[in-house]
Amino acid sequence: MISKPSQIAKLQNKVAIVTGGASGLGEETARRFAEHGARAVVIADIQEEQGQQVAESIGLHCCTFIKCDVSDEEQVKSLVDSTVERHGQLDIMFSNAGIVSKCMQDILTFDLSAYEKLFSVNVRGMAACVKHAGRVMVEGGVKGSIICTASVMANYGTGAAIDYVMSKHAVQGLIRCASKGLGEHGIRVNCVAPGPVATPMICGRLQMSAEDTERCFEAEFAIKKSGFLKAKHVADAVLFLASDDSVFVTGHSLAVDAGYIPTN
Ligand code: NAD
Repeated sequence: MISKPSQIAKLQNKVAIVTGGASGLGEETARRFAEHGARAVVIADIQEEQGQQVAESIGLHCCTFIKCDVSDEEQVKSLVDSTVERHGQLDIMFSNAGIVSKCMQDILTFDLSAYEKLFSVNVRGMAACVKHAGRVMVEGGVKGSIICTASVMANYGTGAAIDYVMSKHAVQGLIRCASKGLGEHGIRVNCVAPGPVATPMICGRLQMSAEDTERCFEAEFAIKKSGFLKAKHVADAVLFLASDDSVFVTGHSLAVDAGYIPTN
């Protein structure tokens, strides 16, 4: 008789950082890491009150909050160093903090001064997280896993929000390069490329409820009649990339998008 399989903890004794962990995909993933036995999950975000609340709701025995603006390399360095000081090592970096375009610019209306703010978080911030996580993993001899959040939009050109789309293409370039540089140390670097999920970021941008946001993208998903793409589906993919289940996966962009194809 086959007995019902119990859930196997995939991250036992691991120490993880989740940037952008106060909300949306980061929050859900921080919860997943804790459910899977991580010894310590450090939530890093610019939203202090919300980040503290999420850490408390996960359980302060394993989860803590550190205020960090990822666009500032010194803050990222300090986040990573203080995590190692406190917990002895860093095994997993989920570099996820990101922002969306303020307006849906096309190439003719592209405000080149505004795109620098977006790039400072979505590209420079991600690069700083990969660099400093890689540095402490190499120093500590840890064969860790680094995961960034790109987007399904890293695979397409669009007429609008071109600064955001460009930034997510850059994230794929970052993980491909970093996987070469860190591979010789046994460190893996991948990204998830989610399709649209009704998080505060997307609902806020569209000024719609979560239900309306999901319906708005419905026609563009290949998978239908199985409900909508949720943060938990992205968290499951990040867990796969963080754990030994993906021990020979590196330099890879894992789409979690229900077969989404944008129409414009
Ligand atoms: P969200 O707004 O719910 O969460 C993003 C978090 O990042 C927030 O808590 C925010 O405070 C934090 N943050 C923003 N700037 C920061 C900074 N400078 N330093 C530290 N933290 C900062 O949005 P989300 O949808 O969960 O987005 C998470 C990531 O997923 C982003 O990189 C986003 O581009 C990407 N993504 C989202 C979707 C989607 O449909 N929701 C799809 C593809 C990719």
